[in-house]
Amino acid sequence: EAEEAAETEEDLEPRAPVVTVMGHVDHGKTSLLDAIRKSEVTGGEAGGITQHIGAYQVHTDHEGERRPITFIDTPGHEAFTAMRARGAKVTDIAILVVAADDGVMPQTIEALNHAKAAEVPIVVAVNKIDSPGANPAKIRQQLTEYELIAEEYGGDVMFVDVSAKQRQNIDELLEAVLLTADAALELTANPDKDARGIAIEANLDRGRGAVATVLVTSGTLRVGDAIVSGSSHGRVRAMLDEHGNNLQEALPSRPVQVLGMDTVARAGDTFVVAPDDRTARQIAEKREAADRQASLAKARKRISLEDLNEALAKGKVETLNLILKGDVSGSVEALEDALLQLDVGEEVDLRIIDRGVGAITMNNINLAMASDAIILGFNVRAEGQNADYAEREGVEIRYYSVIYQAIEDIEQALKGMLKPEYEEVETGTAEIREVFRSSKFGNIAGSIVRSGVVTRGAKARITREGVVLTEGLELTGLRRFKDDVTEVREGFECGINLGTFNDVQEGDLITTYEMREKPRD
Ligand code: GDP
Repeated sequence: EAEEAAETEEDLEPRAPVVTVMGHVDHGKTSLLDAIRKSEVTGGEAGGITQHIGAYQVHTDHEGERRPITFIDTPGHEAFTAMRARGAKVTDIAILVVAADDGVMPQTIEALNHAKAAEVPIVVAVNKIDSPGANPAKIRQQLTEYELIAEEYGGDVMFVDVSAKQRQNIDELLEAVLLTADAALELTANPDKDARGIAIEANLDRGRGAVATVLVTSGTLRVGDAIVSGSSHGRVRAMLDEHGNNLQEALPSRPVQVLGMDTVARAGDTFVVAPDDRTARQIAEKREAADRQASLAKARKRISLEDLNEALAKGKVETLNLILKGDVSGSVEALEDALLQLDVGEEVDLRIIDRGVGAITMNNINLAMASDAIILGFNVRAEGQNADYAEREGVEIRYYSVIYQAIEDIEQALKGMLKPEYEEVETGTAEIREVFRSSKFGNIAGSIVRSGVVTRGAKARITREGVVLTEGLELTGLRRFKDDVTEVREGFECGINLGTFNDVQEGDLITTYEMREKPRD
């Protein structure tokens, strides 16, 4: 990074904007990327790009100049957020696709929240204007609610009406991307040094070995360069562009397929050029170790309500980013309203960067990582590998089943006076395989213990597809075969009785937990 800072302005040359296409499912992201790919004229011939690689470049005439634009060829914001969560900032501009015959939908809002959180300017493509039910004015109207105000309404966001299907107004959309880039961003990079960049996608090809699509972000990448990407390394044996042409060198913002890596890099991994093969290998090995350390350190360092509490006590100004998830939209709205009405004073900027209904997903956790946010789960949870992922990455998820408690917690933290907290420690989880109705014992949930230990007398909660049905139950009966037992461990089957609570079905999870006072560190 010090090296970047040492660059003088003369070293910097303009580079192409890098664009990601986001939006609700079926609004036409894939079709739009297709239309853009086909709009490229090569060697005087229309017909466009035929190869599918993870990113491609097209050119458009802009104020008498032929200018390149790079597109990341993965529609949807999951890829965008996953990369950002890993610290890679790839995208300069987001195209938000909204179908004119449908309107603003949940993933439209999610996508624009992601772009806003990343401080990436947005161009809106109002798609499907060929459709009989198209109402482009309605889209503009709806998006004003999310502070995307069209230029024609006095705002600063460019809206372009397009039809991906009939390839209408694609040039206008590209023009809008360049206008937005020129107005909002200073896109430059120094081409006169060893290359650095980011892996966009990577896969193992039968004939060609590990193939990585990388985006050069600075410097020039050349055939023969020794490179390290994440913990994989190699020598650039060949580089191919989106037309299948062999390239000898790649400049900033140029995506290329690189052949010659030893293993498959991960999307979002950065790459650098090393002086020689041996150094490349050593760096890769060191990185692997460092990566592990860094992710541990990061996990420890992420914001928690306790940190905020402490920072405020010391008089530091902070921002608190929150992501709200709930079981029904009514509770999410109620929680959001109440939080926004909190008197947080001058010191804290409370921002709700995303909200939604349903279990806490990988995408929510990635956004929390990228924006250093805390997730509040109201009657919903992160399950299985998502819970592990959040824990590993140090993303704080706080679970509530009473709105008032959530509000009080946040308020206390914002006042710098959070009380010692009791945390819920999960002791075991069992999955219900079959429910037996017994006149003598009530319903018995024939289950298998999936993790930990399930204990008779423990507090229990029921989750169905990530949504908490009930908590504060008591596990009153626990049997193996015909015997009453006190505990059952992971991997074993058992019959579970939850007192008078009988609303269980196959596939539900019974999680047992206890409350412990949280250690202050
Ligand atoms: P994605 O899920 O956002 O990637 O959407 P797709 O590109 O797969 O498009 C979803 C559906 O909308 C497909 O049936 C497309 O043919 C259709 N579609 C996409 N663009 C247009 C358009 O401009 N006009 C019309 N009428 N249909 C479109």
